[in-house]
Amino acid sequence: MLKKTCLILCLAVLACAAGPALAKQKLPLVVVVATGGTIAEKTGGSGGAQPALTGDSLVAAVPGLGKIARVKVVNLVNIDSSQMTPAIWTKLSRAVDAELAKPEVAGAVVTHGTDTMAEGAWFLDLTLTSPKTVVFTGAMRDASDLSPDGPVNIRDAVTLAVSPQAKGWGVVVCLNYYVNAARWAIKTQTTNVQTFTSGQKGYLGYVLGKVVEHWHPRPPKLALPLPAKLPKVTFVADYSGSDGSLIRCAVDQGAKGLVVEGVGSGNVNAEVFGAIKYALKKGVEVVITTRPIYGGAWPIYGDQGGGLTLKKAGCILSRDLNSFKSRLLLMLALANGADRQRLVEYFK
Ligand code: ASP
Repeated sequence: MLKKTCLILCLAVLACAAGPALAKQKLPLVVVVATGGTIAEKTGGSGGAQPALTGDSLVAAVPGLGKIARVKVVNLVNIDSSQMTPAIWTKLSRAVDAELAKPEVAGAVVTHGTDTMAEGAWFLDLTLTSPKTVVFTGAMRDASDLSPDGPVNIRDAVTLAVSPQAKGWGVVVCLNYYVNAARWAIKTQTTNVQTFTSGQKGYLGYVLGKVVEHWHPRPPKLALPLPAKLPKVTFVADYSGSDGSLIRCAVDQGAKGLVVEGVGSGNVNAEVFGAIKYALKKGVEVVITTRPIYGGAWPIYGDQGGGLTLKKAGCILSRDLNSFKSRLLLMLALANGADRQRLVEYFK
């Protein structure tokens, strides 16, 4: 009898001791892939904000994160996102894809600079196929600030990455509680924590502590396999008095695609139109975007360089993608052998 009581007591003690560890094991696993940005920068002396922290330090600076999920950190690069390139985003896409392919991984968080975060998130939204959610996050106040916003953004990004409500949202940008689809995210403010919005399209949802609100469905998914090599696609903005020389130069420098940001609903001046015809004749695909951030390009104006004239000449009018996201879509589409008709489909 005594033996039996001792055994039960020992098992009870073991169960109490192992309880928290067992509970933790039941938590979902999230992979945090760190790439740098303000969230990982510190301002010291007269050198301004510089990359300073690893992904592990970023995660360690978030109290209570271990109660939301188990976290694995991958330190990919540590750069200001003004230095990001499609080649690095290709590496990032491969790294995230490899982690999401593991059955035990519930979702991923990418910590990234905000300057080019919207494009990086869009690049992964186009090239990833996993149904698991990927949350890009960052910070507008660096880690040496009086009240850095990085820790709360990481907490919310991890909450979102494991949230059942966020299943199927694809790649999103989440800072300051708001959740933006990668396709619609725009950085609108250079210094304020409330910088990412989704403009006329609206936020996908909102994260407040443990609560994830789902406001409306994600945009249709576009899938473009990661190519071995990315073609040169150049971006040129039209402006009053522009003579089109930058377009001719881009073509002569080997651009395979061109994004021309027109004024209004996608109109350019006659000289720029002449340069665009030069590009088209050389077999360069030309996508027309617009300086106004909402509304997209439309075939309305029929004068030299008007949107309708550009469309008739063979240009593709981008509906709701800005110049920088149009450039990445055009780059991936050309790399995957898209012809003119396919390109029109992608941009409508
Ligand atoms: N320059 C920084 C970056 O894009 C800005 C930020 O992360 O907020 O890396």
